[in-house]
Order: sequence, then C-alpha cells, then structure tokens
Amino acid sequence: MSLEELARQVRRCRKCRLWKTRERAVPGEGDRNARIFLVGEAPGREEDRQGRPFVGAAGKILNESLEKAGLKREGIFITSVLRCRPPRNRNPRKDEIEECRPHLEAYIDAVDPYAVVALGSFAHRVLAGRSAKVSEARLETGEYRGRPLISTYHPAAVLYNRQLLKHLTSDLKRAKEFVESEDTRVISGPARRGKRDVSVRAAGGVIHRKGRVLLIRKKSERLWCLPKGHVETGESLEHAALREMEEETGLGSIRIERELCDIEYSYYWPQDDINYRKKVTYFLARAPKGKPEPEFRFDKYKWCTEAEAAELLFHQNDLRVARKAFEAIRK
Ligand code: SF4
Repeated sequence: MSLEELARQVRRCRKCRLWKTRERAVPGEGDRNARIFLVGEAPGREEDRQGRPFVGAAGKILNESLEKAGLKREGIFITSVLRCRPPRNRNPRKDEIEECRPHLEAYIDAVDPYAVVALGSFAHRVLAGRSAKVSEARLETGEYRGRPLISTYHPAAVLYNRQLLKHLTSDLKRAKEFVESEDTRVISGPARRGKRDVSVRAAGGVIHRKGRVLLIRKKSERLWCLPKGHVETGESLEHAALREMEEETGLGSIRIERELCDIEYSYYWPQDDINYRKKVTYFLARAPKGKPEPEFRFDKYKWCTEAEAAELLFHQNDLRVARKAFEAIRK
C-alpha cells in the first residue's frame, strides 16, 4: 500500500476512542526509502494541532540529536505507537496500542527499513514484545521482524533530563553505523537477475567448554555472534576457521574437533550491481583453558547455554549453527 493511502486511512481511522478527542490524526512522515525507521510514543499537543509527528518541543530535541548523529531528518521515516493524541498526554492504553498496531506495521512494511529505532519504553515494549527499562534495553540490539531494533530514550525524556541527549545521540549514531555496516546488507533469497555474481568464502567456529559455547558481541552494533571471517588466498578452511576464532576471541588453546555445517546465503548492497554469494563453513572446536580476550571490534564475551545462545544470537544462521553445535556436544 502506498504511503499516501496509509495516511488517508490514518486520517479516517476511528478504531479506538482517541478519534473523539483528537484535533488531527498524525500519519507517519519521511522518506519512503528510509533505511532508519523511528517509532515514538504518541502525538503531543503540537503534533495534534499540525497533524505531523515530532514538531513540538520533543521534535526540536529529536532534530538536534539527529543532526549531532549525522542523520538528516528528511532521510528517515518517523511515526509512533499511536497516531492520535491521548487526552492530556496520558500514557497509551493497551487496547489503543493494539488497535493502532496495524497502522504501525503497515508503515514498516511499506518503507521496509534496514533498522528500527524505538524511542522510549512504549515503543520498545510494542516492538520488542516485552517491557524493559530504556537504560537497560539500549545496551543490547534487539530484533524486529528480522531487522535490528535499537531502543533509546524518547526525546521528551531529554526535556526533563538534558544528560540523556548524549545517549539518544549515540544510539542514533549506532543506528547509522548499523545501516552502513556489513551486517545490514540486504540478505536475499534468490540473487537479483541480471547482476554480476561474486563468490565469497568464509569459515568460522563454535568454541565449547563444559557444555557451553562462546559468543562474542560486536561493539558497534552490540550484536552477539559467532567468530568467523574470510578465507585468505591459499588458506585451508580449517586453518581460516582456527585463525578467525583465535583472532576474534583471543583464546590460544583452541582445538578443532570436527566440521559442523555449511551456511550459504546471498546478499547485495542496493546501490551496487553485484550479487555476493557467501558460503561459510563452521567447525566445532574446544578451548579447554584460557580467558577470552576479544579483539577490539568486540566488547563482550559469554559462555552460553543453549537457551542463552537462542536468546542472544541475532542472526538466524548463527542460531542454526549453534544448535548443531549443542547437538554434537551432547552426543
Ligand atoms: S490512535 Fe490509531 S487506532 Fe486510534 S483512532 Fe487514532 S489512528 Fe485509529
């Protein structure tokens, strides 16, 4: 559905009680090709008056923060959990959130962004499916329908505590880095027709110790993953996997036990003409001793149970590999 049709539907909407008290409904606004999609809480007085999102005092804070983060407001897309103002800016109610959710989802489907940013705890709860303090939620990258979900403070919170501006800005910067990073390339099923194909070979591993496997967290995206990297010219898959595991985890006692599986996928950058076809071979490995000291691109490590790995791993492919590793460890 086009954004214009979505806006018409929002302006006509009477699905929850808020239509009776609104002056204007507030459709989503921004670039239809936006790579970053911001979700706030609900329109305030000025938004209700103008029928546009984030045009009041909180909007000024958002604009300031976007500018500091190196993002242009006209290049992103903005909407909220609700598209009509709750009386006296009270909190959104559960039934209002549910009635308005289809509008939000339709906007996200129409724009198809690379990353979604939840501004405030209501947006976090709706998008992540669970409640959390923003101060905690912002420390991890979540997932919304296969997209990275970055949670941060609502700009209105900055009006009350100016100290939060630096966190809002650094989280918006993180969203920018995310969409510019390799992890947000478009992962496609079938590669695009009529484009040049380039094969990429990579190898990685699942390191285990005492029934747990080692995950590392990428610093820039705060995203948990398994160690892996490109195979260098003349290098065997096993050697490449071992080298990548040692480099990325800092462990020196790694011994490869067996090959686990191959993961294949294709991806592309929308702006270029190449289909990358990547094949990664994973190995099961053991590290009986030593404390991990991840390389500079990673800021954390964790020895995980299967349930913890399922909770933390962002990419479904990594999760498939980890599950195979746990099966092999149990045998
Ligand atoms: S808040 Fe959403 S569901 Fe309720 S009337 Fe407005 S647009 Fe419709």
